Amino acid sequence: MKVTFPHMGYLWISLKAMLEYLGVEVQEPPPTTKKTLILGSKHAPEFACLPLKLNLGNFMEAAEMGADTILMAGGCGPCRFGYYAQVEYAILQDLGYKYQLVVVEPPEKHISEFLARIRYITGGRPWWQVINAIRFGYIKARVVDDLEKMAQWRRPREIIPGSTDQAFSAALQLIIEARHPRDVPKAQSQGTQIMNQVQVDERKPVVKIGIVGEIYTLLEPFTNLDVERHLGRMGAEVNRSICLSEWINDHLFMGLIKGTRSSKEARRAAPPYLNHFVGGHGQESIGSTVLYAKQGFDGVIQLLPFTCMPEIVAQSILPGVSADLDIPVLTLVVDEQSGEAGTITRLEAFIDLLNRKYQQKEVLA
Ligand code: SF4
Repeated sequence: MKVTFPHMGYLWISLKAMLEYLGVEVQEPPPTTKKTLILGSKHAPEFACLPLKLNLGNFMEAAEMGADTILMAGGCGPCRFGYYAQVEYAILQDLGYKYQLVVVEPPEKHISEFLARIRYITGGRPWWQVINAIRFGYIKARVVDDLEKMAQWRRPREIIPGSTDQAFSAALQLIIEARHPRDVPKAQSQGTQIMNQVQVDERKPVVKIGIVGEIYTLLEPFTNLDVERHLGRMGAEVNRSICLSEWINDHLFMGLIKGTRSSKEARRAAPPYLNHFVGGHGQESIGSTVLYAKQGFDGVIQLLPFTCMPEIVAQSILPGVSADLDIPVLTLVVDEQSGEAGTITRLEAFIDLLNRKYQQKEVLA
C-alpha cells in the first residue's frame, strides 16, 4: 500500500509524519501547479468546486509516482464536500486508475469509524502508537503554524526584500526533516532562530488585514494566488482566521488543548448577522470579520472558490457587517481562470484604501 492524499497548504507535512511514524509508505503528490489544475479541470465537472479539481489533479500526479491508495476526508452538512471523495474516486475509476479509497469521516460525528479507518490504513497498529502518531502530526502542524505567524509579522517589516520567505523555507525544511516527536523541539528552536535573524524595521507603520473564507482556499497558496505573500510585500501584516493546528484541535481533539484559538469564538461572534451553520466555514467567516473589526484590524479579505455555497452566503452578509462595524471588506473569488496579475492589482487598490483610512485615523488620534 502506498498512500497519498490531497494537498492543502502544509497539511502534507503533518500527514506524512503521522503515517510514516506508523510505518505506512507515503507518496505525497508533487506540489500543486498549473499542470495539476489543467489535469483536474479537464476531467472534473465544469461547475465542481475548484478544490475538487485540484484534488483530482493531485491524485493523477501521485498515481504517476506509484501511489495506489487515497486517504481522503469525508464530510456532512449543506455543502458538496461530503460527496467529494466518491465523485473523485468515480472519475479516477472511469479514467482507468486503480486506486483504493479510504474515506475518513469527521470524528466529531463518527469517532469509532474515524479510528477504525486510521487503524485500517496502519495495518492494525496498537492504539498507543496510533495516538502518538496523531500527536506527532499535530505537533508538526502547530510548529509550522507558529513559523507562519512569524513570517506574517516579518514580511511587511523586512529590510531585505524576500529575506522572510528565504528564512521561512529554511525553517520549514528543519521541521519536515524531524523524523520523531523528540526531534521536533530542537527543529523548532533552530527554525525560530532562523526566523529571528530576519532583519526588520519594527517601527514601520503597517496595515493589519484579517483573512477569512473557505478553508482550502485559505490554506493552499496555489489556490489563493499567494495572497499572503503579496500582501506582506505590499506592507500588510496578515492574520489568517483558520490555521491547521487550530482546525485539528477543534475537530480531532474536540478542543481539548486549551489556550489556542477556537472556531467556536468565531461562531459565537456571528449572530445577529448569521445565526446558524450554513456549511463549510461560512458562519466563521462572518464571526471572524466581526472579531477582526473589534480587534482594530484595518480590513478583511474574504477568499472563496467560485460556486462555494457557504461562502456565497457569507459574501451576501459581509457588506452589512462592513458598514455596521466600519471595516472595509474585499471579496476575492478564485477559479481556474484567475490570474495573479489581476489579483495583485485588486490587492494594491485595497491596500491603498486601507492606508488612506489608516492615515486619517492617525491624524485624528
Ligand atoms: S466549502 Fe465550498 S468549496 Fe468547499 S466543498 Fe463546500 S461548496 Fe465546495
